[in-house]
Amino acid sequence: MRPARNNQTDILIIGGGASGLAAACICADRGADTLILEKQARVGRKILSTGNGRCNLMPAGEPVFFGDAAFAHAVLSRVTSEQVRTFFTSLGLTMREDEGRVYPASGQAAAVLDVLRLKIDNAPHVRVVTNAPVVALDPVADGWRARTKEGEAYHARRVILAGGGSAAPKLGGGEDMYTLAQSLGHTLIPTRPALSQLETDTAPIRGLSGLRVPAILTLLSGETPVDAASGELLFTDYGVSGVCVMQLSRAAGDLLAAGRDASLSIDFSPLLGLAPIRYERVAPGKPGQNVPACEALLRDRAERLPPGNLLTGMLPRLLAERLGNLPIPALARALTDYRLPVRAVRGFAHAQVTAGGIATHEIDPDTMMSRLHGGLYMAGELLDVDGDCGGHNLLFAWASGMLASQSACGSSRQPPPGAQSPKKVT
Ligand SMILES: Cc1cc2nc3c(=O)[nH]c(=O)nc-3n(C[C@H](O)[C@H](O)[C@H](O)COP(=O)(O)OP(=O)(O)OC[C@H]3O[C@@H](n4cnc5c(N)ncnc54)[C@H](O)[C@@H]3O)c2cc1C
Repeated sequence: MRPARNNQTDILIIGGGASGLAAACICADRGADTLILEKQARVGRKILSTGNGRCNLMPAGEPVFFGDAAFAHAVLSRVTSEQVRTFFTSLGLTMREDEGRVYPASGQAAAVLDVLRLKIDNAPHVRVVTNAPVVALDPVADGWRARTKEGEAYHARRVILAGGGSAAPKLGGGEDMYTLAQSLGHTLIPTRPALSQLETDTAPIRGLSGLRVPAILTLLSGETPVDAASGELLFTDYGVSGVCVMQLSRAAGDLLAAGRDASLSIDFSPLLGLAPIRYERVAPGKPGQNVPACEALLRDRAERLPPGNLLTGMLPRLLAERLGNLPIPALARALTDYRLPVRAVRGFAHAQVTAGGIATHEIDPDTMMSRLHGGLYMAGELLDVDGDCGGHNLLFAWASGMLASQSACGSSRQPPPGAQSPKKVT
């Protein structure tokens, strides 16, 4: 990508991740003089790690959001999922659907980054500076002045903050955007990790580390089901992992943050052939509802198998060894309602996304422009929106980046009434 030729630009995009690159592609089409400042040595590093290297770039069905979900849906009504798909098609990306999720047809996250970069590389008026962490952003008479850690200053008429949230610091996550936005008077809704693994009591899972099994997980507070997901469960030395675990981590974090207890009821029915193997959120059911079916299955097996071999051929060896000596009623309970107290949601280093962020009531969902400052736009994970596992987070990043850019490129809006530091937006 080209280096910046000078420090003056019409549109400055801070952060060359999903939302920032999508925004830059719109600028490329609109012919706006644009500069991306990226903290890391390369743009789009996180994109390469998404979806286990396959990049689940959006859901095929209805988007599911948390935080200010209404704001997220308002943004998606301006730039729809279909428009995001069309955008990627126009960039040359071929896509396919797999279990309700959209991936590049090649199965390579690099394909997504490649098409974004190609568009930007081919636009002479869009420039990129890497290794340029922005540490200060100030309104000035004719727009904005951004300063990097090295002391370099850049001037822009409009700025899009697209530097993401706190999740995955090794891939560019951090607090920088919150600090910049707060310095301009914006409010931070407290952040915490979401879509992360769960730390649990380790005694009940000792010896199971590394085991992957299909299961239905129900998150409980006391005996009350709060949330549930079905999928592949991975036992680890600290607790549990897997997409189904990550799907429950936000609600588990809510419970723990409120000082309430949280535990998992693990139902191995899909492993036993008593329930279909599914990979999705499910309606939380009463824990232990599959105990009778499991008990019947075990009694049937007991008639045909030698004592001591009841679990042979049915369970992975690690799990069979752990449960082997229980009497049938207790075994049926352990196989369909295995309890695991949750201690913590693993931190930002392990999380895929940030819950909380910059308060969305301070952002206009029609334009992504700050309601406090004309000419300042925000997009992506830095806002108080987080999505479910399954492409929802990237969808919001693409759509909000595109909308911010469309507004910044095309807007002749005046600063909103009551703006604290009105900037001329022509
Ligand atoms: C391992 C992993 C897998 C994931 N898989 C999926 C998936 O399959 N599907 C999905 O929908 N979501 C997935 N996500 C979440 C998704 O990647 C993010 O929600 C999304 O990338 C957010 O986009 P963004 O543009 O807001 O931020 P980012 O993509 O994080 O981009 C922000 C950019 O800004 C840069 N930056 C930060 N601070 C500064 C600064 N001060 N100055 C200049 N630049 C700065 C960063 O280096 C980064 O390049 C995954 C996340 C992780 C960590």
